[in-house]
Amino acid sequence: MKGFAMLGINKLGWIEKKNPVPGPYDAIVHPLAVSPCTSDIHTVFEGALGNRENMILGHEAVGEIAEVGSEVKDFKVGDRVIVPCTTPDWRSLEVQAGFQQHSNGMLAGWKFSNFKDGVFADYFHVNDADMNLAILPDEIPLESAVMMTDMMTTGFHGAELADIKMGSSVVVIGIGAVGLMGIAGSKLRGAGRIIGVGSRPVCVETAKFYGATDIVNYKNGDIVEQIMDLTHGKGVDRVIMAGGGAETLAQAVTMVKPGGVISNINYHGSGDTLPIPRVQWGCGMAHKTIRGGLCPGGRLRMEMLRDLVLYKRVDLSKLVTHVFDGAENIEKALLLMKNKPKDLIKSVVTF
Ligand code: NAD
Ligand code: ZN
Repeated sequence: MKGFAMLGINKLGWIEKKNPVPGPYDAIVHPLAVSPCTSDIHTVFEGALGNRENMILGHEAVGEIAEVGSEVKDFKVGDRVIVPCTTPDWRSLEVQAGFQQHSNGMLAGWKFSNFKDGVFADYFHVNDADMNLAILPDEIPLESAVMMTDMMTTGFHGAELADIKMGSSVVVIGIGAVGLMGIAGSKLRGAGRIIGVGSRPVCVETAKFYGATDIVNYKNGDIVEQIMDLTHGKGVDRVIMAGGGAETLAQAVTMVKPGGVISNINYHGSGDTLPIPRVQWGCGMAHKTIRGGLCPGGRLRMEMLRDLVLYKRVDLSKLVTHVFDGAENIEKALLLMKNKPKDLIKSVVTF
């Protein structure tokens, strides 16, 4: 089969590989729609995972089952399925402790285009199909469905980690697809005021669609000052970080109220440490909580997100600005995520 791969850092291309083979509990899936992720860009062009040679890229896909192992009970060949980007091993102490993302090692629940070949291929392997796949109903279009696998689960996890209460004031820093889903998730959890921090007009418009009540442009000066002005010097209850760099954490600590929560779902790609400003953190005594997490995957998570889409609690179609048909467009779609033209939120390739 063919797959679109990272040949090494900064090197991309199509390669031939043997078809994957399912273990007794696994499935082989043929993709129907895939989407490149900002994380694929971190992987290839920033060496975020270290070097990977001839590793097929991609971790966002919906598809059709081509083969199942002998012990798979709930899925059969031909089923259309949602494949979460996080596909944990469900037998581990970390899972028993409530952290599927870190099953058998920190971040080890994320396997596609990390520890094994990804989804930009004719076929890909899914471990533990009964626990990691969810049926995709016909009512949900493929382009929207593929947004559940990473963008929605990640952004919604941002709102979960932030522990949004009814009426909470929330700042979402970074309004790419992940931050936009942080806004949508915050609204669903009952946030009051939601301030989106971003600059590109397409993202600003979409942020308002998903529930942002205010927008702050980080290119117009210090965002802490702007947010303090908007909140009469009080700051906000919750901050979700879905963009920015190390300094963004310092800003978040400064703008969150005592007792507030900062929820990071952003990838921090440089430096050995992240700054926590001492005084703004109450010299360690401000009850300001900092959390960060990888998106949850698995079947139950996907079924629950699927119902939010199916019953029209959230419309994922607004995230997808560029759709291509045919596998030959994967490179073009991926490079869009690198070059981020003004009108882009997410690109999708259908088959
Ligand atoms: P994106 O690049 O589309 O969005 C990030 C946005 O932040 C961009 O629009 C960028 O212009 C903006 N930005 C940059 N600097 C900023 C600043 N100082 N203040 C405010 N905004 C700023 O990326 P995305 O797909 O939305 O993903 C966001 C982050 O989440 C990425 O780092 C990605 O790797 C990470 N991610 C994490 C998980 C997870 O499980 N935790 C999953 C998927 C993606
Ligand atoms: Zn991703």
